[in-house]
Amino acid sequence: MLFAHRALAPLEPLLSSELSIIPRDSPGIQDHLSRGSEKTLKIGLPGGRSRNDPGGVLHLLRSLLKITLAFATGVAPGCAGTAGDLTPDESGLEKVFAYSTEGRPIRGIVLGEGPETYLCFGVIHGNEPAGGPLLERFVKHIEGRPDIIDGKRVVVVPVLNPDGLERNSRTNSRGVDLNRNFPSRNWTPSPRHGDAPASERETRALLRILRQFQPTRILSIHSPLQCVNFDGPAEEIARHMARASGLPLRSSIGYETPGSLGSYAGDDLLVPTITLELPKSADGRELWRRIAGALEEFLTTPEPVTGK
Ligand SMILES: [Zn+2]
Repeated sequence: MLFAHRALAPLEPLLSSELSIIPRDSPGIQDHLSRGSEKTLKIGLPGGRSRNDPGGVLHLLRSLLKITLAFATGVAPGCAGTAGDLTPDESGLEKVFAYSTEGRPIRGIVLGEGPETYLCFGVIHGNEPAGGPLLERFVKHIEGRPDIIDGKRVVVVPVLNPDGLERNSRTNSRGVDLNRNFPSRNWTPSPRHGDAPASERETRALLRILRQFQPTRILSIHSPLQCVNFDGPAEEIARHMARASGLPLRSSIGYETPGSLGSYAGDDLLVPTITLELPKSADGRELWRRIAGALEEFLTTPEPVTGK
C-alpha cells in the first residue's frame, strides 16, 4: 500500500548514472529534446490548485489502479535503478530517465504540476521518427500556453528507443520490438518479443516512469497507420483527438499486439491509453499543423465522469 502515493514511493538505490538533470547546453551527448533551443525550459505554475475531482466510484477505482500500477511495475524482472522522485523545483527541467541498451540517454521533461499526471512519449519504434520532433514542438507549445496543462503534470519523453532511432530499426539494438515486451497478460514468447516480459532496458525505463509518475492518461505516438487507436477507457479522448486531426478513430488496428503498452497499461491496468498513428511522411511543420489540435485534445478532454 505504500506505493499508492507518489510521495511514499520507495527509492531504490539511486545511481548517479541513472538520473541527472540536463543543462540545456550540455555538450557531447545525443540531444533530441533541446535541439534548436538554448533557453531554459523552466515553467513555473503556482501550486495548490484545486482538483476537479469527480469523486465517488471513479476516483476510488483510479486510486486502486494506481496501487495496481505501482505494484505491477515494481516487480519488473531485472529492473535496475530508478528515475528517482522529482522535487517541485525540477519541474520544467530536462532529465535523463534512463539509458538505452547501447548507453544512449532516454530523455524527458516534466511540465507543470498537479494531482493528475499525463504521459506522452514517442519513437518506441526507431523507424517511426516523426513522434520525436512532434513532441519537442509540443513541449514548446505547452511552454507558450501553460493554461492547457492547468492543474496537471505532463511528462514528455520524445524518444524511448534512441538505439532504434539511430539505426532506423523498429526494434531496439537487441532486435526486440519494445512494444511487444511489456508485461501484459497477453505477452507471448518470441525472439522478437524478448526473452521475458520487460527484458529490455528501454521497456524497463518506461515501466519506471509509470511507477514513478503513475500517469492517469498515456499517449504513445507511432506511424504510419494514420489513425487514433485506444486501449482502456480512452474512447472519448480518442474521439476528440480524431475529430481535431481528421484521422479515423479505430478501436483496433486490425491485428493482435501482445505485450504492447496498450495491452499492458490500457487493457490490463485500465489507464486510458491512446496510440496516435501519424501519416507516413509529412513535413514537420505541416504535421504539427495537422496534429497540434489532437495533442491539445489529449491534454484537455475531460475525464468521463461516472461518479456523480
Ligand atoms: Zn509503431
